[in-house]
Amino acid sequence: MHEIQVKYQKQIEELVEACGRVSSLGYVTSHGGNLSYRVAEDIVLITPTKVEKRNVKFEDVCAIDMQGKVLYAAPGRKPTGEWPFHVRIFQKRPDVRGIVHAHPPMLTGFAIANSDLLSLPTLPEPILEVGRMLMVPYAEPLSDELAEMFDEYIVRSNGFLMQNHGALMVSTDSVLRAQDFMEMMEAAAQSVLVAKLLGNVGVIPEKEIANLDRVMQTRNLPIPGIPGRIQSLTELFKEK
Ligand SMILES: [Zn+2]
Repeated sequence: MHEIQVKYQKQIEELVEACGRVSSLGYVTSHGGNLSYRVAEDIVLITPTKVEKRNVKFEDVCAIDMQGKVLYAAPGRKPTGEWPFHVRIFQKRPDVRGIVHAHPPMLTGFAIANSDLLSLPTLPEPILEVGRMLMVPYAEPLSDELAEMFDEYIVRSNGFLMQNHGALMVSTDSVLRAQDFMEMMEAAAQSVLVAKLLGNVGVIPEKEIANLDRVMQTRNLPIPGIPGRIQSLTELFKEK
């Protein structure tokens, strides 16, 4: 095994598990989606290009540095073409360890509808873990424009809808945790859609948001987004 595979065996296995979950849940089709895991200051594990996520095995996971130099790739394997986008997020969010980008049907539906319903405070757990799902305007996949577009959003939350494209989640713990968030928000999207069909998307009132702020303080949970930017959930939901 390569020294990176020896040192980061557990993290590579987690990335493979996350790929399996993304695929078996139908969050990607064909070669869609990409996942990455920053395991050290200058080492990022990342999915290979042109491999279906359900087929990603331990030896297929690539490793790059923060300039995109390939540190490890199996013969015939190359890191996803989306690597500059992932590296840019890790640069803008030094607190982030895991990134999952996929096209879950519910979340992607909200992204096509350009709906802001998932940025409302509708459910406590998504609020605590993810913050608001922010809508990032459409730009061509793989383009610099898309990466630049993300800059103003990436510091403000841990979950993003990409207009007419899909979703992206980040976690400060691990890539598996980012996948947990994707599943949490896909389920939330289903529930919000049902609420909308039933005729009323109710929101958690402001004074209850203030109570959630106290929960976060007690549990010592960080406010979603880059640390220190804002001090409370109340502030988060007042932002435009
Ligand atoms: Zn995509």
